[in-house]
Amino acid sequence: MQSGQLDNCIICGRLFLKDHTDSCLDCYREIEHNLNLVADFLEIDQNRYATIEEVSEFTNVSVKQIAEFLRDGLIFSEDYPNLGYRCAHCGKLIKRQLLCNECFNRFSTDVNRTLMQEKLLNEIDSK
Ligand SMILES: [Zn+2]
Ligand SMILES: [Zn+2]
Repeated sequence: MQSGQLDNCIICGRLFLKDHTDSCLDCYREIEHNLNLVADFLEIDQNRYATIEEVSEFTNVSVKQIAEFLRDGLIFSEDYPNLGYRCAHCGKLIKRQLLCNECFNRFSTDVNRTLMQEKLLNEIDSK
């Protein structure tokens, strides 16, 4: 077993012993709690067609965090027809990656694609 190293929590900035996560235990528990709230909400049959805004409203979990759950595959969005988040460029509803296919294809011909993705990530973070 490899021992962890100290790092700053990506959420609260506190120093913590980095193990499997990028956040400290407190933030990790908070995220896990939020994930359970969202998963429980979606388990109810009549909530299957909820949008991300509705889920956020009912669970008090931020749209940004729910989008992260979807992007990380923690919530399987294919099961929920209306559940997705906005393409970082054109705002279309998507279920994976940062960009919709059209925008991705457009940027993938761009030599600055990596830079562009970083810029978009920063934009999302600042929202
Ligand atoms: Zn933290
Ligand atoms: Zn797009």
